[in-house]
This record gives sequence, structure tokens and C-alpha cells, in this order.
Amino acid sequence: MLDLGSYIVLLGGIIYFFVFILGLILGSFLNSWMWRVHDNIKILSNSRSMCPHCRYQLRWYENIPLFSWLILRAHCSNCKKPIHWSYPVVELATGLLMMFIVEQHLKLVHFSEWILLRDVCFLTLLIITFVYDLRYKIILSRIIWAGTIIGFLINILALNFSYSSLLLGMAIGGGFFLFQYLVSNGRWIGGGDVRMGVMMGAWLGWQNTIVALFIAYIFGALVGVVLLYFKKADGKTEVPFGTFLAVGTFLAIYYGNNLLNWYLQLLK
Ligand SMILES: [Zn+2]
Repeated sequence: MLDLGSYIVLLGGIIYFFVFILGLILGSFLNSWMWRVHDNIKILSNSRSMCPHCRYQLRWYENIPLFSWLILRAHCSNCKKPIHWSYPVVELATGLLMMFIVEQHLKLVHFSEWILLRDVCFLTLLIITFVYDLRYKIILSRIIWAGTIIGFLINILALNFSYSSLLLGMAIGGGFFLFQYLVSNGRWIGGGDVRMGVMMGAWLGWQNTIVALFIAYIFGALVGVVLLYFKKADGKTEVPFGTFLAVGTFLAIYYGNNLLNWYLQLLK
């Protein structure tokens, strides 16, 4: 017989294991969705998984998240072309981040399936934005508009966020980038960044939108310094702002209030 303590530990382990597996599957789905969108392939008529280079249809054991990449040693078994490293990284990261989200929610005093659903949805959209902007230098506007509407509605209807905070956040987030867009005539940043700023406001409210922008810029500057140091970038390198904004937004969801309180304490 297990005592209650070991039973809870065992149960927790089983829950996290399944959440991790679910995350791997979600990450694998996001990978194939992204390259299909980029290569303009109809998703329903080509539902079987295939190699992005030669369109060879994968056998079941070549389509297991993470493990297939290791077994195939990062090469397609048909055309021998390399499989991009981002595939296993996205799968592993999605699995780990899903575990992180569930852990954050189990810590909450008032567990809400609405916030859990919202956060899984946010994570999905942020992973797409992070990877797509990094690999293809585009922030997908349909993802951003869908995210803006879903986030706004759940925040208002299920979580009682204040309208005014969300609208002000959208104005600050969008306005911050719109200003730069207008001043630089679209040379510094693109329309995708403006739309992403609006979405961040609808997700976070105005205070955490500012926190998210701060995190994104600090993170971007750190990465920039490292790349300049290793001569992987120069002044002309195109900056994937969406990638940095996705990181800032994700961290602001969970740590925004703490960071804000910590900062306000410093001012006292
Ligand atoms: Zn191939």
C-alpha cells in the first residue's frame, strides 16, 4: 500500500508525463503546420506527414516527436537531406513549456480551466510567432488577429479584466510600434510588429504590456551583443522582433506582476 504522500507524488509524475507527451505532439503539429503554411501546401488534402524537401511520406516510426529525429540522425531516410534542427527543438520546448504552464496553474489558489485553456492557446500562438519570425522573417497576421480576439474575449468574459486596461494596452502596444513605423517609413519595423503590439495589449493589459516590451528589448539587446561579438550579425542584420516580443509576452504573463511590484518598490 502506498501512503498518501507517495500517492500524490506518483499522481503528479503521471500528470506531468502526459502533459509533456501532449506538448511533444502539439510541437510536432506546429512544426508541420508552419512549413506547410510557408510552402503554401493545403493542410487537409495532404494530411499525412512528409519530408519538407522531397515530399516523401513518413512511416509511423519516422514521425515520432523528438525520437525520430534522433533515430534518423537528423536526415530524411529518402533524400538524405538534413532535417532542420528547429523541429526537435520546437517539440522539446513545447513539451517543457506545457509542463511549466501546468505547474504554474497547480500553484494557483483559485484554479481556473479558463485561464489554463487561455494560456495553452497563448503558448501555441507565441511558439508560432517565435519560430516563424526567426526562420521566415514574417509575423503571420492571421495568427495575431485570431490571438487578439481570443485573448480579449476570454480576458473580458471569463476573467473579468477591465475593458479600459486592455484597450489602453492595445493603444500603447500598437502605438509604440506604429510611431516607429511612421517615423522610419517602415524601415525599422514592419506592420507585423504593430499588430503584435496590439495583441500584447489585449492579452496583458496596459501595465504588463509595458513590462513585456521592456523584457523583449533587454532580451533582444543581449542576443544582439552576443551575435555582434561572435560576428554572426552586423548593423544590417534583419531583427526578428516578433521572436523577442514572444519571449517578453510569455514572461510577462507569469512574472509581469512580480516584476512590476519589484520595480515600484525600488522607486519608494
Ligand atoms: Zn526527403
